[in-house]
Amino acid sequence: MGADNVIIEKNFINGAWEEGSGETIAVINPVTEKPIGQVGEASAADVDRAVAAANAAFPAWSALTGAERAGYMRKLSAAIRAHMDDLVALQKLNCGKPPAEAEADITGSLECIDYFADQAEALDARRQQTIDYDIPGMTSVTRLEPMGPAGFILPWNFPMKICAWKLGPALAAGCTVVIKPSEIAPFTDTFWGMAAQEAGLPPGVLNVVNGRGAVTGAALAEHPDLRKIAFTGSTRTGKAVMKAATNGVKNIGLELGGKSPILVFEDADLDLAARLAAEGVFYNAGQCCNATCRLLVQENIKDKLTEKLLEEFEKVVLGAPDAPGVTMGPLASKAQYDKVTGYLDIAREEGLNCLTGGRPAAQFNSGYFVEPALYTDVPKDSRLWNEEIFGPVLCLRTFADEAEAIREANDTEYGLAATIVTEDDDRVARVAAQLDAGHIYTNTSVAIPPQTSWGGFKQSGIGRELGPWGLAGFLEVKTVTLRA
Ligand code: NDP
Repeated sequence: MGADNVIIEKNFINGAWEEGSGETIAVINPVTEKPIGQVGEASAADVDRAVAAANAAFPAWSALTGAERAGYMRKLSAAIRAHMDDLVALQKLNCGKPPAEAEADITGSLECIDYFADQAEALDARRQQTIDYDIPGMTSVTRLEPMGPAGFILPWNFPMKICAWKLGPALAAGCTVVIKPSEIAPFTDTFWGMAAQEAGLPPGVLNVVNGRGAVTGAALAEHPDLRKIAFTGSTRTGKAVMKAATNGVKNIGLELGGKSPILVFEDADLDLAARLAAEGVFYNAGQCCNATCRLLVQENIKDKLTEKLLEEFEKVVLGAPDAPGVTMGPLASKAQYDKVTGYLDIAREEGLNCLTGGRPAAQFNSGYFVEPALYTDVPKDSRLWNEEIFGPVLCLRTFADEAEAIREANDTEYGLAATIVTEDDDRVARVAAQLDAGHIYTNTSVAIPPQTSWGGFKQSGIGRELGPWGLAGFLEVKTVTLRA
């Protein structure tokens, strides 16, 4: 990294920093719309060398005990802690996140690496297990083996945390990795290379290749010498990555888009419901895969809830990360700004009932700022009700009873998360059992502790990250059957 506003990112391959041999890509500050630095794109040949380094490092890394790998991982998180202030500053500069949100991305990644360091240690005791069956003359044991070198393709919305969700279990399992950050937010993920150096990770265990998806990402996805691709991003790109990963028949983890419902029943605490719906769609300016963007409200409480929601919308303070009192930053890029404002145009064309917002914020001379929007009585066939917007846009529909609420909540191609707001515990159990979603929240915020699972039903993805399921995603099961 260089001095202020001149950040130059290289690629980290086999323990050394190198210029990419591809194009130079400018990285933009979403508040000023000005470049803050650049990355040198890794070409397919650079990716090839990074994959070769990961392969060369794999035998020695995977031969270490889990406890030994945990030691390295704790040094990795110590390196992050030591650079916390710089990393938070980079998140503000590159992603426009207000301080608390910038910090949460870094602390979330730390918690994840620490959690999986513990899992690496615990793996030593359960790596080999006898299978219980009764066949005379035969006995079997299973062994858990690391899958092999893995490639990560990452989004820009929570750059470090989403990388840690993959890096923690991969290193714990004994895999080596090649990381491709988003070209929009590459700085903090490139820092993993520096952390690897400070932690003394053997060369080739952790590599970082910067560049565009169509060049660097595609080269990684189709590389025949990787055993796994772990991808987080849009469903559209996920499908392309899945196709490319057929080359070499790689294992694949896909964490894709969402259109998550929040269901508010007539017995709900309405102050809580309004707060959860608003924070769920305002956090990170709505650029969250689990944003509570489809609000389903029981008919008889709609007016009261709408009133409270408008109060929540009024509390939002849009602005640059360090401006006083700011609660919501800009969208992260021009492309995302165009996408979100495009949906606001569609809302006008569709004649949607907009109660507040619904336009770019007029008070700034620069920056990708959009006023948070609330649309009510949104028709079921509206594009805003059905498509992932990834911005501060909340759409509301009503339901008559529980059965209709569940039907409407599940009526989407996605199935990432859902929130239920009710004071009735029996209802929670009934509704949670019937919702098609990977993580269901009841009367609480959409936080994601590393001990839980993350991943989607339907077109929200394949596989689960975090918890023991995340570790399993980087392990192969080998059974050895013996003559007894
Ligand atoms: P994209 O799908 O646009 O990009 C994700 C990554 O894929 C980027 O690194 C991108 O590169 C890369 N990429 C693009 N094209 C290709 C290709 N042909 N081959 C290989 N890689 C490629 O998603 P965004 O970055 O815009 O992230 C937002 C999306 O991520 C939303 O849909 C959101 O729901 C989803 N998401 C899902 C989460 C989950 O846990 N389920 C969590 C967070 C986000 P580049 O952009 O650098 O060109």
